[in-house]
Amino acid sequence: MINESHAVIREKCPVCGQGRLLLAVTNSRPNNFFILCEDCESEWNSAEDAAYIEMATRDKHRFLRFATLEDIGGQPYEQFVLNK
Ligand SMILES: [Zn+2]
Repeated sequence: MINESHAVIREKCPVCGQGRLLLAVTNSRPNNFFILCEDCESEWNSAEDAAYIEMATRDKHRFLRFATLEDIGGQPYEQFVLNK
């Protein structure tokens, strides 16, 4: 379920060309983020890495939930969010 309050990092995934890349929260630490494709579930460590198909990983991060715009307010990730 994609809600418009989710933080969008890129409109199109470089791996599958279909999904958007959304900011996700991992449960290893509070407020620890990674980038996740909503469609193919490719992952990236950071918003900078998400531009590169060769930087994509899989099953490396524990997905807790998609980040909301409230989560990233005042965080360094805020500058990368398209729909803020
Ligand atoms: Zn994808």
